[in-house]
Amino acid sequence: VARFQAAQPARPLAAAFSTAVSDDSLRPVTLIPGDGIGPEIADSVKRIFAAAKVPIRWDTIDVTPVRDPVTGKNKLPERLFESMRESGIGLKGPLATPIGKGHISLNLTLRRAFNLYANVRPCRSVDGYKTLYDGVDIVIIRENTEGEYSGIEHEVTRGVVQSIKLITRDASRRVCEYAFQYAHDNNRKSVTVVHKANIMKMSDGLFLEQAREVAKNWPHIEFRECLLDRACLNVIQDPSQFDVLVMPNLYGDIMSDMCAGLIGGLGLTPSGNQGKDGAIFEAVHGTAPDIAGKDLANPTALLLSSVMMLRHMKLEDYANRVENAILSTIAEGQVITGDLGGKAKCSEFTNAICAKL
Ligand code: NAD
Repeated sequence: VARFQAAQPARPLAAAFSTAVSDDSLRPVTLIPGDGIGPEIADSVKRIFAAAKVPIRWDTIDVTPVRDPVTGKNKLPERLFESMRESGIGLKGPLATPIGKGHISLNLTLRRAFNLYANVRPCRSVDGYKTLYDGVDIVIIRENTEGEYSGIEHEVTRGVVQSIKLITRDASRRVCEYAFQYAHDNNRKSVTVVHKANIMKMSDGLFLEQAREVAKNWPHIEFRECLLDRACLNVIQDPSQFDVLVMPNLYGDIMSDMCAGLIGGLGLTPSGNQGKDGAIFEAVHGTAPDIAGKDLANPTALLLSSVMMLRHMKLEDYANRVENAILSTIAEGQVITGDLGGKAKCSEFTNAICAKL
């Protein structure tokens, strides 16, 4: 709290804490509560931001897909695009995706629609929750628009399907540039490119080639290369040897869940999707249908995503204040959710955080 107050000049602090702040002076943020536990954890963020008097206003959008009358396919509602065009910033709860059939993933649609090219997933140990290793601090940067998730699949003949892994020079270069810029901005020491260019010589080979090219522009950051299988083994044996990791889409998706396991599970892992014209922040986990509607979810992953969002919006002091309240509540260990070994409901954990603000 002292740091928060000391770092704020007098006028903005007064303005931020005045109840008379007009809605116009608040920056808009698009909020997609999502499915399953989404509305419960989104509510937690809203209550905590209100307690901290964070100077933003939520524009809440339901992204239940609507049917396009021309194509007959599902599409995202136009209101979402209008809101994102105005705010440039989104906070998103998880969205359910049918397995094997049904509509295309809305998560993928959002990533494509807003050109969210880099997915940043920090995995950092949380005080008060004991895991195999202390002090895990790894950031996974995942290419977010292509690879195996390009969605190009077809049946060649009965019983034979083909799925295209698309890798382009531009998308590979862009995400590698982002990874080095991130490492530089956050005082990280090394960037490791994770790949399978020994097998997928052309596709992963192109990704690796771009990482090598970009690395030449950042001589003060150590550049390493690691095969995916070796990286998985090493991260489980000794996570301290890794710092920032950059990799194609599918590898990053899997590797980040594995790293989430190292720090205590999906309830703790935030993420940000950086795009050309905006950014959307979201928890790594899904809709958790097994606990949805029961007030049992741990909102920490979405809360830490919202802290990343505040930093992105240059609201650093609010970010620090909210983050400290979350992490100290977990460290004290008295009011924590079931996934962390506690008995508290999502709403009780939220109350305990609000009480610190
Ligand atoms: P999941 O992440 O929803 O759940 C996996 C396990 O982790 C469950 O046991 C769940 O209860 C637990 N869990 C997840 N988040 C938790 C939290 N905040 N607090 C406490 N426990 C938590 O994964 P799933 O079951 O494989 O997927 C369910 C749905 O979510 C699917 O439709 C999937 O497509 C979707 N999904 C969406 C996103 C996204 O929107 N970004 C990401 C992953 C999965």
